[in-house]
Amino acid sequence: MTIEPRARTVQFKPGERNVFLHLLTACNLSCRHCYINPSQHGTTMLDRDQAVTWLKLFARPEQETNLVLLGGEPTMHPELASIIRAAKMMRYAVTVDSNGFLFHDLLERVAPDELDFLSFSLDGPDPSVNDPIRGEGVFATCTENLQKAGKKGFHTSVIYTVSALNIEHLHRMPELLAALGVQRFFIQVIGLRGKPATGEPAPTTGWQVDPQQWLAVVPEVASHAARLGIHVTFPKVYLEPDEDFECAGLVAENFFIFPNGRVYRCPLCEDYPVHSMCIENDRLIRRHGLNEDRFFTLNIPEGCVMNKLLQPDNIDYLPGGRPRHRISCCLLKQEMEPCV
Ligand code: SF4
Ligand code: SF4
Repeated sequence: MTIEPRARTVQFKPGERNVFLHLLTACNLSCRHCYINPSQHGTTMLDRDQAVTWLKLFARPEQETNLVLLGGEPTMHPELASIIRAAKMMRYAVTVDSNGFLFHDLLERVAPDELDFLSFSLDGPDPSVNDPIRGEGVFATCTENLQKAGKKGFHTSVIYTVSALNIEHLHRMPELLAALGVQRFFIQVIGLRGKPATGEPAPTTGWQVDPQQWLAVVPEVASHAARLGIHVTFPKVYLEPDEDFECAGLVAENFFIFPNGRVYRCPLCEDYPVHSMCIENDRLIRRHGLNEDRFFTLNIPEGCVMNKLLQPDNIDYLPGGRPRHRISCCLLKQEMEPCV
C-alpha cells in the first residue's frame, strides 16, 4: 500500500524557542540573492567567549531550544567547533547552516553526535542552475562535502531558496537529495531583502515567484521528496480562508541575533534599525520606541504587516479591493513527513 504524503501546517507552539546566531557576516561567496547587509549587521566576528556569553543569555536548559549557527559563512569562524560544544553543554539542539565549503576542517573537529544537523545551501540540482546564482564551482564543492558529511554519519539537510531563477528546476532536487543521503529538505522562498531588494539582477523575470506558480510547484515537489524518504519543510506563504493568521512576534520565541548586538524577533525587519532588543555589555536589553514589536499587533486583511510594507507586490487584490490571499507569517511552515 502506498501512503500519500500530506502537508501539515506546523502551528506555533507556546514555549517553542528558536535562536539564530549570526557569528559573523563575512562570507567567501557572493550569492546573487544574499541577504546579509553589513551596513545594518556590522562586519565584526564574535569571538568564541563572546559567542558563548551571548548563548547563555538565551539558553533555557529546561525548555527545548533550537540553535542555528549561521553567518555569513559560519565555518569561517576558527572556533566554531568549540562554540558548538559549548552550545550542546547548554542543551541547545544545534544546526550549522553552511554554504558547503566547511572551512577549518569542521568534519574533523566535530563529531556527528555533537551536532544535530549540518545544513547545506544549494539553489539548483546541477552546476548550470546553482552556480550562476551561488558562484562558479560551488555546486561541486558543496555536494562533495555533503557526501563526506553523510559518510561520516552527520545528519544533513539542504536549503533551496526558490526564486524565479530556479523554480522550474526544483522538481529535480528530490532525486539528487536522495542520492546524497540528505535527511531534511528546506524549501525557502526568496525574500525581497538584501540584494533582491535592490532589484538586482534577474533581468527579465525579477526574483519573485507568483502565487499560482508557487502553489503549483512546491507542494508537488515536497510530496515527491517525502515519497523518497526525505522530511520536507516549506513556508506556508498563502493562508486558506478558514485559517487563522498569527504573528510569530506575538506567539513564538524567535531571536535573530547579529554580531553588532542587534536582536530581532522578525526576520523581515532585519534590514532596518527597528530591532526590539539588543545586547549591550553582554546584557539583553529591550528597546523602547517605534520598533518591530509595534507592528506585530496591527491587524490587517492582508495578514503579515511587514510583508505588506516591504513586499506589497506579493499581494494580489480582488476587484472589490479584498486581498485574494492573506500572507502568513514568514515563519509559519508546512511539513511533510517522509513516507517510505
Ligand atoms: S553563502 Fe549565504 S552569506 Fe554567503 S554570499 Fe551566499 S547567501 Fe550570502
Ligand atoms: S513575518 Fe510578519 S507575521 Fe511573521 S513575525 Fe514578522 S511581522 Fe509578524
